[in-house]
Amino acid sequence: HSKQIKSALISVFDKTGLEPIVKALHQNNVTIYSTGGTEVFIKNLNIPVVAVEDITDFPEILGGRVKTLHPKIFGGILNRQENESDVAQMTEFNIPQIDLVIVDLYPFEKTVASGASEADIIEKIDIGGISLIRAAAKNFKDTVIVASVDEYSTFLNFYTENNGSTSIEQRKLLATKAFHTSSNYDTAIFNYFNTEDTYLKISEEKGQVLRYGENPHQKGFFFGDFDKMFTKLHGKELSYNNLLDVDAAVNLINEFKNNEPTFAILKHNNACGLATRATMKEAYLDALAGDPTSAFGGVLIANGTIDVATAEEINKLFCEVVIAPSFDKEAIDILEEKKNRIILVINDVALPAKNVRTCLNGILVQDKDNITDSAAILKTATNTAPTAEEIEDLLFASKICKHTKSNTIVFAKNRQLLASGTGQTSRVDALRQAIEKATSFDFDLTGAVMASDAFFPFPDCVEIANKAGITAVIQPGGSIKDELSINYCNDNNVAMVFTGIRHFKH
Ligand code: 5GP
Repeated sequence: HSKQIKSALISVFDKTGLEPIVKALHQNNVTIYSTGGTEVFIKNLNIPVVAVEDITDFPEILGGRVKTLHPKIFGGILNRQENESDVAQMTEFNIPQIDLVIVDLYPFEKTVASGASEADIIEKIDIGGISLIRAAAKNFKDTVIVASVDEYSTFLNFYTENNGSTSIEQRKLLATKAFHTSSNYDTAIFNYFNTEDTYLKISEEKGQVLRYGENPHQKGFFFGDFDKMFTKLHGKELSYNNLLDVDAAVNLINEFKNNEPTFAILKHNNACGLATRATMKEAYLDALAGDPTSAFGGVLIANGTIDVATAEEINKLFCEVVIAPSFDKEAIDILEEKKNRIILVINDVALPAKNVRTCLNGILVQDKDNITDSAAILKTATNTAPTAEEIEDLLFASKICKHTKSNTIVFAKNRQLLASGTGQTSRVDALRQAIEKATSFDFDLTGAVMASDAFFPFPDCVEIANKAGITAVIQPGGSIKDELSINYCNDNNVAMVFTGIRHFKH
């Protein structure tokens, strides 16, 4: 699938950097077609060039609005060389083959930024150039597309290392970059047209209109396919904040997917209760016991069926949302007694593999934190190793920790979340918060375990935790001062394991 380039159409706004490409093409006897200004530029290099008008037999018209938009040009770019009827039509209509298209679009964004008039800005919406890019990129099997000045060096490298031809992989890569260029270009045009008023209108059409955003004075929309993820059985419309909690709940419970009955209660995107038990009712009751104060108005999620016994207990609590993979029929009847309570069946669909959020004047995209700590990755850092029960609790705590806002400290015992410190600006604060919470709900921390989302730069955390009763610790390790925490643990008979994996959640 390596293809020799025999002909090229070049139509570029910015002529910078074009010279070496044109020379390289000329050296390989490539026939060059071109538009007005680009044609003059190439002629001035003393390199032969054929005007597009000579192919189309049609002049550039409407002040440059129509230059290359012609079947003879687009036929030359879009024909499939493996398609007999395409090949026959090329001969029938005397269409020249175009193997390479080089375009640099009208500078739309720069024109907008320069404060030009609307008429000047509109004139800078490239029509033919964007069409050439789309056509050549679509036909990447046969055609090479260089869609911007930024791709010249990539192309020249491919071209020279392959002696004047390109591979299918290279053409597909250039096509991908071309669609990136064209989509950015169209986005810039859309952003120019999309003023305050139209923003609302388009959002209303394309997204789900929420009652409001995070606060009543903020407009809010959800862009996504909620019904693909959930079947809503009952309750009021989900709010912006409900949706964020539901997202946090689903990601958290996903860690316990194949476990024994597990129930979680979330508030403000963090777990305030979570327990794994022999029955769902027990799991719910012990999740609730973790922090009955916070559970008020919370989002509840189970990893298995919510039965009647569980529903009866849930019904005693004011809660906004109840989510489970399935509900017994009578359990639904019980939960529906509260008019507004939202009941969601979570469908068995994969969660997105990427996280996206706004940042400054753009977006941040990252792979989802897909690593769940397991016994296999643990390295005992201390003289004392954790017991089998402690290991189970350590991994249990670490799963919760991963889904809690940093800095976070999680205490667990007997597969129950006892308390956590969430979203604190220092790890010591998170630890103190966890101790205070556990104490206020009368939990005895003796023999409980601690998880930390990141390493300890100082021995203060293990010391404070141990004095509160903690006997085993899980953390990523990797601080240059790990030794200080390890020494404290060794002196005080605390077991500590390193995972080697940090789970920040900001
Ligand atoms: P030139 O300087 O060669 O006259 O024009 C090059 C510019 O024209 C490039 O930015 C290219 O994207 C654009 N272009 C090529 N064909 C057409 C067309 O048919 N219509 C419009 N509006 N622009 C075109």
